Amino acid sequence: MQPCLPPLDAVPRPSWRAPALACDCHFHIFGPYDRFPLDAGRHYDPPAALIPQYLRVAEALGIGRMVIVQPSVYGTDNRCTLDAAAQFGLDRARVVAVVDPAVEGPVVAVLDRAGWRLTHILNTHHHNDHVGANLALKTRYGCRIVGPLADRDRIPGIDLALAEGDTVTLGDATARVFDVPGHTRGHIAFWFADEKALFCGDTLFALGCGRLFEGTPDQMWASLLKFRALPDDTRVYCAHEYTQSNARFAVTADPDNTSLAARAGEIDAARAKGDATVPSLLGVEKATNPFLRADDPALAATYGLKGRDAAVVFAAIRSAKDRF
Ligand code: ZN
Repeated sequence: MQPCLPPLDAVPRPSWRAPALACDCHFHIFGPYDRFPLDAGRHYDPPAALIPQYLRVAEALGIGRMVIVQPSVYGTDNRCTLDAAAQFGLDRARVVAVVDPAVEGPVVAVLDRAGWRLTHILNTHHHNDHVGANLALKTRYGCRIVGPLADRDRIPGIDLALAEGDTVTLGDATARVFDVPGHTRGHIAFWFADEKALFCGDTLFALGCGRLFEGTPDQMWASLLKFRALPDDTRVYCAHEYTQSNARFAVTADPDNTSLAARAGEIDAARAKGDATVPSLLGVEKATNPFLRADDPALAATYGLKGRDAAVVFAAIRSAKDRF
């Protein structure tokens, strides 16, 4: 299993910086917020006594993507069919899902604080910093695990394997599944159209995209084009807070993009205050993320590839970022 980041033991941990955790370990919530004790988009700060433990793991794994999805009540007005209810083992309890849980502690802490019980895990891909807590959470809560069909053998505890065009319904919310290979061969994404939310794992990042561990540039470009076809007001819940370092590279790839330059300044200001930059708006990514703009002549010009196929330009951008 190839992690996105070095294993714990390989990461030096010289000091604990508690303020970093407030922005690097956060939970985004969408759904009927007013009925629940956590606010939409608010950062979650774990209990002080647990911070050193969380920070050690959070820093090593780059946690920035643990997301509580659509806390909801499975009642008479939901759109969940009986078939789906049977499929997912739903009852009339609240549906609470977490996307890509790397470690158990922060998930349990936020659920305890809210008085919630985890019913589902949505996995985008097999890397350990996305599935690391699968089995512990399943043991604790008996939750159901949904993940990619193409990688079902590498998703611990998987109950339901999905692929392109499938849907998953959680309470009142339904997500469409996209196959988005490139970072890994079996990567999927979850798009909640009504909630305007995209959980894209390590395929798309704010101002970046995932490394090509198991796929080709052609595959990744095709995957990103699926996202680019979604509405501009889609919120992109990417899996890591890599935005500031991504911005430093992006301005070299697309130096004359004034929207990008302005965004890079906003990102620096946000990070200086300890604020998260995730989620971002897809419309903003379309205008500023070089990996979504490989068919723009400006990007081709940067790499001396005028007139070449977009996938070739994309490969050049990805290769340049790998060496940056
Ligand atoms: Zn990954």
